[in-house]
Amino acid sequence: MPKAHFERHYADRIGWLRASVLGANDGIVSTASLVVGVAAASAVRGDVLVAGIAGLVAGAMSMAAGEYVSVSSQADTEKADLAREKKELETDDAGERRELTNIYIQRGLEPALAKKVAAQLMAKDALMAHARDELGLNEIHTAQPIQAAVASALSFAVGAVLPLLAVLLAPSEMMIPIVVGSSLFFLAVMGVVAAKLGGANMWVGALRVAFWGFLAMLATFLVGKLFGTSVV
Ligand SMILES: [Zn+2]
Repeated sequence: MPKAHFERHYADRIGWLRASVLGANDGIVSTASLVVGVAAASAVRGDVLVAGIAGLVAGAMSMAAGEYVSVSSQADTEKADLAREKKELETDDAGERRELTNIYIQRGLEPALAKKVAAQLMAKDALMAHARDELGLNEIHTAQPIQAAVASALSFAVGAVLPLLAVLLAPSEMMIPIVVGSSLFFLAVMGVVAAKLGGANMWVGALRVAFWGFLAMLATFLVGKLFGTSVV
């Protein structure tokens, strides 16, 4: 497989993997914080589980909705840009040719060469040349909002299941420390994976996500303690 083709596929896969890891992080942080808060209000295991499962479903649905809307609106914008570009190419070929030539001149080509390159690329595929070099669309691909929404919801749900398992398996009196400890462990592992995928320092990656996760759980623990005592 030609190198450029392989690299592009590898980068796509990395992109998806990183998005899934970040989605799972969200699932862990928001569900662990939720169950720690409810448990701190001295709820029994059944109530904590119900709250956790409701949080998992709500979080997964909101991730799916957010991803669907953002991918669809991005696709809409790309489609509108391409339609406008197509129209300009049909109505003002000379102007578009000049525009593309200027883009290549600004990128450092000599005017004569820039003109030749613009002419050849427009002869091959004018819309693709303008989409890539004027609009910055590397690829005219069909957006898949449903696929993105499902992937996002699933990665959130996978993350959210981890603290729920801890709630299910921990002795009642140890529920909060076990949820916090196991969630921090899973977050650190996710942080290492995401950092590795992004070519960043894995310890910094692990620490960063564990720190924010801990902060979130601490905040909900305090809220649960506060409301728990005032409500009872
Ligand atoms: Zn153009």
